[in-house]
Amino acid sequence: MNTHDIINEEKINEYLEKGKKASKEEISAIIKKARDCYGLSLKEAAILLQIEDENLLESLFDSARFIKDKIYGNRIVIFAPLYTSNECTNNCLYCGFRSANKELHRRTLSKEEIVAEAKAIENIGHKRVLLVCGEDPKKTHVDHITDAVGAIYKDVDIRRINVNAAPMSVEDFKKLKKAGIGTFQIFQETYHRETYEKMHEAGFKRDYDYRLTAIERAFEAGIDDFGIGVLLGLYDYKFDVLATLMHSEYMDEKYNVGPHTISVPRLRPALGSGLSETPYPISDLEFKKIISVYRLTVPYTGIILSTREAASLRDELLSLGVSQISAGSKTNPGGYEEDDREATQFQTSDERSLDEMLQVVCEQGHLPSFCTACYRANRTGEVFMELAKDAHIHEFCQPNAILTFKENLVQFASDQTKEKGEKMIQKEFEKIDDEKMKEETLKRLKRIENGERDLYF
Ligand code: SAM
Ligand code: SF4
Repeated sequence: MNTHDIINEEKINEYLEKGKKASKEEISAIIKKARDCYGLSLKEAAILLQIEDENLLESLFDSARFIKDKIYGNRIVIFAPLYTSNECTNNCLYCGFRSANKELHRRTLSKEEIVAEAKAIENIGHKRVLLVCGEDPKKTHVDHITDAVGAIYKDVDIRRINVNAAPMSVEDFKKLKKAGIGTFQIFQETYHRETYEKMHEAGFKRDYDYRLTAIERAFEAGIDDFGIGVLLGLYDYKFDVLATLMHSEYMDEKYNVGPHTISVPRLRPALGSGLSETPYPISDLEFKKIISVYRLTVPYTGIILSTREAASLRDELLSLGVSQISAGSKTNPGGYEEDDREATQFQTSDERSLDEMLQVVCEQGHLPSFCTACYRANRTGEVFMELAKDAHIHEFCQPNAILTFKENLVQFASDQTKEKGEKMIQKEFEKIDDEKMKEETLKRLKRIENGERDLYF
């Protein structure tokens, strides 16, 4: 395969150059058009990425908020990462797990330890987990991941396990599919080849093309639910954001399914990192622009924000287009049982607990959701996209968010969170349009109060 068909650097640069020349009127017209929620072309996205004018930026943010509300309502899906290993044979300059970091306390959790960690996560109140590990052919090969997934599903009430791991062969992806993972996430880190080579000095990850084509091999293996992204700060964000969108468009055109999610990790300081400073620092304002451009260009793709970002900024970004957040995260293997700073991948910024986070989400007018229904009812890939584009997905999401949040309140929440959460549920319940659905949701809310669990549509 010619990977130039996936990422065409000349075209990206050409669009960005032309984007600089757009008039205010043209920019305003694109921002307005995006409100129809049909998405934008790469050329239009390039124009938006070039916005510097304060008023135009405000109107970009405004459209992002409008689209977020129209498509996702005020729901925010919540998850926690579970690091199974920090052993890694790669030497990505930016990462604390890199092989050259001899100070790191290395650890690969056993199956039993992974289950214990998942139980600790469950006991905080989570239902969705993102499994993360370094790349070490001896320690973190696909069987390590599938064993972990199988053991967690069997012994813990975690209902969806997404995976962020190294690229694999079709055969290995088939094993992942069989284990029942949710989304397979892989970040290209940077789509800019020259920078990619500088950042990845050794190990399998040096192979840009093998990483770029991973999603297609996953697809061939039957995984139609995938997430992409770049590590913001490694290279010019305008190039990398447009390249991410080009990758998304390529998959959409070829397979009729775009990415389920785009993540927006921004480079964080890491103990033992090989970078003394961020090569291309991104301001908070630029970060907001990035999230907004994604929201306008691919309105049906979820946007994931992690605890890499500070509390105050995270709160603002919820309205702007983010649809999933992690909360109460630890980035070292075994971290939910024992925090070891010398074993972490990078420093988190938002250290609030899940319980605190739930209060904040409610205070800001958002509805926390622990829903895992779509994937368990086989509403993934093309089926999901069709439902999402017809806005039918709302009919399920709203009651499911209410029911899963209710479970959390009944089982895990502090009194303060319960009080705020119950008020939010009452308000959100009234938004269910369909009378039958409303009636059934009410019945299920009572059943949850009486001790039943895992009720979803
Ligand atoms: N090892 C696998 C890989 O590299 O694809 C998967 C797990 S890796 C721990 C997950 C992601 O963490 C990477 O894709 C990278 O984007 C991100 N990451 C690495 N170092 C980081 C840092 N210093 N700050 C923020 N994110 C970082
Ligand atoms: Fe290893 Fe992934 Fe970190 Fe690179 S980013 S050093 S592959 S864990």
